[in-house]
Amino acid sequence: MVKIFIDPGHGGTDPGASGNGLQEKNVTLQISRNIRDILTEYEDVQVRMSREGDQTVSLSQRTNAANAWGADFLMSVHINAGGGTGYEDYRHNKLSASSASGKIQAAIHAAVLNEIKNYKVQDRGAKSANYHMLRESNMPAVLSENLFIDTAADANLLKNNSFLQAIARGHVIGMAKALNLKAKPKEELTVAQAQDLQRQINELKNQLAMQVGKPADMNKVSSWAEKDWKEASENGYFDGTRPGAPITREETAIVINRLRRNFIELIGKNSAEMIKIEERLAAIENKAD
Ligand SMILES: [Zn+2]
Repeated sequence: MVKIFIDPGHGGTDPGASGNGLQEKNVTLQISRNIRDILTEYEDVQVRMSREGDQTVSLSQRTNAANAWGADFLMSVHINAGGGTGYEDYRHNKLSASSASGKIQAAIHAAVLNEIKNYKVQDRGAKSANYHMLRESNMPAVLSENLFIDTAADANLLKNNSFLQAIARGHVIGMAKALNLKAKPKEELTVAQAQDLQRQINELKNQLAMQVGKPADMNKVSSWAEKDWKEASENGYFDGTRPGAPITREETAIVINRLRRNFIELIGKNSAEMIKIEERLAAIENKAD
C-alpha cells in the first residue's frame, strides 16, 4: 500500500494569491481533487488530503497530519504569482536531484509538462527551496507551482477544466512512475475516467452549439420588421410580445379572425348588413376551400 498525502495550498481565511477573478485556494483544491480522483485508477494506493474543502489549515497542521499518518509521499499544490508565466516545482533545498524527493520531482516535472504540451506552457524548471511543506515533512515531498494567477494568459488556462485535468494527470503519471504504482485493469471506467468522458462530451456539445450559432433572441424584433410589428401590435392583432417567436396554426387563426371581424365591421353600415356581408364572405371562403 502506497500512502499519498495531497496538500491543496491555502484555504479558508487564507486565499493565497489572487488575480484575474481567481483565488489560489480554489484552483489548488480543484487540481488536488483531480489528482485524488485520477489516483483511483491505480492499485493499492491510499490518498489523504490536508483539506477536502475550503477549510483553514495551518502549515504545521498539514505536515503534522502527513507525518502522523505515515505518508509515503507528500504533494503540495500551489499556484504562482508575482508576474511571470509557466510551471515549476520544488524539492527541499538540502536535497539533491538524485534524492528520493528529487527523483519523484523529476518524474512529475516531465509528466506534467508532457501532459500540457499542447497548451504551450513555459517550463520554469525543477527547483529547490526551503519551504515549510518540504522541510517539515518526514517523507519525500514535492511542491508544484502551477502557472501564474496574476498573468492573464496563465489565468485563462487555470479557468479551463480540461487544463486542470491535464495538469493533475501529469502529477499522477509522474507519481505512478516514481512510486511504481500499478494501473488497475481497465475493464471498468473509474470515476475519474467517467468524469473525463463527460467533460469531453460537454466540450463537443459546446463546440456544436457554437457552430450552429446562437439562437436568435425571440424577444427582439428584426430591424426589417420593426415598423410592421409596431403597427400590427398597436392595431391589436398581436399583443406586442415575443416578435421572433414561431407562430402556431391556432395563433394564426386568432389573427385571421381579428382581421375578418374588423373587415366586416368596416364594410357593414348596420348589424343586419354586417350579418349579410359575413354570410357572403363565408360563401366565398367555402368556395375557395
Ligand atoms: Zn501558494
